[in-house]
Amino acid sequence: MDYASGSPVDERVLEDMKPYFSEHFGNPSSFHSYGFKALEAIKNARMRVGGLIEALPEEIVFTSGATEANNLALIGAAARYKNRGSRIVISSIEHISILNVCKELSRQGFEIKYAPVDKDGILDLDALTELVDDKTMLVSVMTANGEIGTIQPIKKAAEIAHDKKALFHTDATVAAGKIPLDVNESDVDLMTLSSNDLYGPKGMGALYVRRGIRLKPIIIGGGQEGGMRSGTENVPGIVGMGKAAELAKVEMRSEADRLTKLRDRLINGVLDSVPESYLNGHPIQRLPNNANIRFSYIEGESLLLSLDELGVQLSSGSACAAKTLEPSHVLIALGLKHEEAHGSLVFTLGKYNTGEQIDYVIQQMPGVVKRLRAVSPLTPKELM
Ligand code: PMP
Repeated sequence: MDYASGSPVDERVLEDMKPYFSEHFGNPSSFHSYGFKALEAIKNARMRVGGLIEALPEEIVFTSGATEANNLALIGAAARYKNRGSRIVISSIEHISILNVCKELSRQGFEIKYAPVDKDGILDLDALTELVDDKTMLVSVMTANGEIGTIQPIKKAAEIAHDKKALFHTDATVAAGKIPLDVNESDVDLMTLSSNDLYGPKGMGALYVRRGIRLKPIIIGGGQEGGMRSGTENVPGIVGMGKAAELAKVEMRSEADRLTKLRDRLINGVLDSVPESYLNGHPIQRLPNNANIRFSYIEGESLLLSLDELGVQLSSGSACAAKTLEPSHVLIALGLKHEEAHGSLVFTLGKYNTGEQIDYVIQQMPGVVKRLRAVSPLTPKELM
């Protein structure tokens, strides 16, 4: 139940990728049939990835993942459009690949402002309106948060950005394939996508760049990807991401319905059976596959280890920030105390999770929590 950290590649995706390793190994820039075959495959994938978000194929730039797409969006826009202003506004719960890029941009002289979220993790649109001024060059708000699953009002955020002539970027890494996305309807200029979150291969992503917007590339070389991302293309990876996007588009609605039912069964089952457990994030406006639950008086890490022994794999926050001992900045932004943030578990469900697995977790959780609370100095007597 940790799909956000890593998802299996769909068998159908793998089958489509296979010929592009050894059989159709050409370089898409070559002027011969091997090259044409690879180029054709990339064209097809670009169409499929664009199709998932209602973008044109030529608006898709393939990258090595969501981190690179976020880097290209922010650094590329900052370099190209700095004459529009020096302010960048982001939400306070962005992924570390946005936060750290902004720290770097701040060292380069950009002024970074953080828009707060409410106690459920929903962006404060009034605060955003106040922060976006005439010298704002870019606004970046994630479509949904990977830790607490909260879905943001990106259409309204884009409107606020555009009112001040700022560009609008959204990191849709964990939202794509889970909820319908339409770059035209929500009026987004730049959107980050990741392949593995769609059951495609890792190390693949894409940035949607609205027609007419030019970014300064961060990887410079032979001019591939319309000059925005040089380097010989990862053809099998691109083919895989394309197939994954096509499958997501077709299967998203029915899978989202199934996951929503599993998610709610899990949330209700755990909250009902474990005293002093609480849901983090918005109860309804959240991704169909995300549950984030806080257990008072215990550490998330000890819960993770106990549950792993029982065959259940979860996360205590973003896998990308797991190397730091700091509590999740997302949970702190909701107003939780450090010890509350430390006692939280992230469940991200996926394709191969079943109702039986959910029931098993609900069955095991009270005993695990009770055992850990029994050895925690923080636990009040009545819960022992
Ligand atoms: N953005 C968000 C919202 C994420 O959750 C993640 C991690 N899956 C990333 C960006 C970075 O993805 P990657 O490590 O694949 O580049």
